[in-house]
Amino acid sequence: MINPVLGLAFTDVPEATEADAQAALEAANAAAHDWGRLPPIARAKLLQALAQKILDNLDALAPVIVREQGKPLAEAQGEVRGTANFFNYAAGQARSIEGEILPSDNPQEEVWIRRVPFGVTVALLPWNYPAAMVGRKLAPALLAGNTVVLKPHEDTPLSALFVARLATEVGIPPGVINVITGQGETVGAYLVRSPLTKLVTVTGSTAAGRAVMRDAAEHITVVSLELGGKAPFIVMDDANVDEAVKLAVSSRFRNNGQVCICNERTYVQRRRYAEFVEKLLPAVARLKVGDPMQPGTDLGPKVSLAELEKVERMVRQAVEQGAEVLTGGQRPHVAGLEGGYWYAPTVLAGMRNDMDLMQCEVFGPVLPVMPFDDFDEALALANDSRYGLSAYLFTEDFRRVMRAVNDIEFGELYINRIGPEAAYAYHTGFRESGIGGEGGKYGLEAYLQKKTVYLNYAGPR
Ligand code: NAD
Repeated sequence: MINPVLGLAFTDVPEATEADAQAALEAANAAAHDWGRLPPIARAKLLQALAQKILDNLDALAPVIVREQGKPLAEAQGEVRGTANFFNYAAGQARSIEGEILPSDNPQEEVWIRRVPFGVTVALLPWNYPAAMVGRKLAPALLAGNTVVLKPHEDTPLSALFVARLATEVGIPPGVINVITGQGETVGAYLVRSPLTKLVTVTGSTAAGRAVMRDAAEHITVVSLELGGKAPFIVMDDANVDEAVKLAVSSRFRNNGQVCICNERTYVQRRRYAEFVEKLLPAVARLKVGDPMQPGTDLGPKVSLAELEKVERMVRQAVEQGAEVLTGGQRPHVAGLEGGYWYAPTVLAGMRNDMDLMQCEVFGPVLPVMPFDDFDEALALANDSRYGLSAYLFTEDFRRVMRAVNDIEFGELYINRIGPEAAYAYHTGFRESGIGGEGGKYGLEAYLQKKTVYLNYAGPR
């Protein structure tokens, strides 16, 4: 494993084989019956204990996140709290697993619809929130009564292993949580293709989601896909530009731009465009790139060399297609840490919506800004995307707000605010951003299947 701050290996993690994956699936399968028969409230108590244990270990887990992923320590501490929150939130849903009784068409008969777990659930995780994504998947899956095989991203497996160890310490039985470390295309695909797997939940790129869907087709395995995004960030001429600049920067550069809902393309109404850019550039220049363990650092390194090179390539291509670099656009020098995967916070102008950088996810510290003339144009620019995860609008005009609510075709709309999304809401993407969603009552529902029972108590007929 590589520490992205130094660009050097710092520890080894086993590369799981197919035999390891098979053993994990069998362990999950063996544990599924007893875990699924526990009363939800008993599972909830274990999840609550795990939440507390995670908080008790905040000072140990946060530096692990920094070491493997590179985000600033304060953000990693926030991520640990968020991870615990997923378990606490799910524990609170224990009383909401309900069925239905329908009046039958026949006398002395009832029709029940029960909610039951799927059984073995495979959860494939990305690298951008290596601890929080464990919470997002595990918490509702376990509360619903499923057992889980987690496959963290190959670049960031340590946080998942850490949380799994805490789970054993609070008494979650063996086999209920299993962690497999290794590559997506090999063991990940093996887990998806197995007939033991009853549900696959992925958070990751659209390319991975597509491959998983194909493999899941073999046994008609249910999939839930939380995939990439390309969020438009629309600033109308009546918005408070100072606030909009501050939030555009925060939503673009947080976690080094490696957030699925973050501001990927900023559109500003022409009357305020010059003012916006004039205020944006000093705000971006103030961002401090450097050692994520040092207080005051805003951006750590990119997670991997491959990700750094991808961002470089995309900026270079945008310039070839006519973009102008207003600031950044290169690797900065970080004294003493020259081997790290640094990229300078970058602002690009001269954009057109058909440029690759406006259509493909950058997932890095690059903010393209583009003017538009009227609201209709802004809506058209926003919707012109194969992605449909999140979108942002800044305006004081309630008519525009209501048109955006009706006409912006994205799963998640933020009006006059930025993320993060809430555990109690519903995190979902349209188009190539995914299928299904996470969070709240609909998120929990996705981890449960429905079983219908026709119960005739009149005697056989
Ligand atoms: P990735 O697609 O490279 O990997 C995600 C996971 O899938 C990893 O564990 C990987 O090993 C596994 N995987 C990859 N190919 C596979 C295959 N063929 N079969 C089985 N498993 C496979 O994604 P990433 O680079 O870790 O994460 C970044 C992406 O995740 C971005 O596109 C981002 O937008 C997205 N993301 C989405 C959300 C959301 O909620 N919508 C949240 C966070 C990140």
